[in-house]
Amino acid sequence: MNIILLGPPGAGKGTQAQRLVGERGMVQLSTGDMLRAAVKAGTPIGLKAKAVMEAGELVSDEIVSGIIGEALDGLQAETGVIFDGYPRTAAQAESLDALLADRGRALDHVIELEVDEDALVERITGRFTCATCGEGYHDRFKQPATAGECDKCHGHEFKRRPDDNEETVRTRMAEYRAKTAPILPIYDARDIVSRVDGMADIAEVTDAIEAILDR
Ligand code: AMP
Repeated sequence: MNIILLGPPGAGKGTQAQRLVGERGMVQLSTGDMLRAAVKAGTPIGLKAKAVMEAGELVSDEIVSGIIGEALDGLQAETGVIFDGYPRTAAQAESLDALLADRGRALDHVIELEVDEDALVERITGRFTCATCGEGYHDRFKQPATAGECDKCHGHEFKRRPDDNEETVRTRMAEYRAKTAPILPIYDARDIVSRVDGMADIAEVTDAIEAILDR
């Protein structure tokens, strides 16, 4: 099964993708995570992407479709994929069709997480992760049980994304509205879009997604 999680920054795509990975043995392909890894490693792609990401703008379609193609090539044919943060433009949606068709895969579901945009800024600017294991936390909604210590791996270092500040978040949302939301009709026409209330509790959102996948 191959699915796309679609929604503005902070809608919960990454959180839900990780939960589905845990419960269904699918693989999460997050272009944002892959680009952040490239920036950290200082690869040629990372060097090109760094300033663009810090500004909250979109990295070129060629770069992101290239990394998705490579990632797909590393998977077993039967492994299900959750696309998280890709595609983000009409050109990427077209590339994804070709990348999947070339590998004998088909798109089963596009799940749109519907959220209230005003709440997103608060969600995003408050979020942080464990620097060791990546567990996600939030200043208001999910502090570690023991202050300064990761619940999962007991690490003591945490980090925040450099693009999770209010100004950049506003740009990322404008990019979503202008370039990503317009790709929904492509998938609507194929009748594969389901909409889920992304403002519900994390577990409820997962249940709603699972129900769609089991349909
Ligand atoms: P994300 O982690 O999905 O919020 O992505 C973080 C940043 O990486 C975005 O603001 C973009 O600069 C870049 N990025 C991630 N995925 C894509 C994509 N599919 N197309 C273009 N840029 C992307």
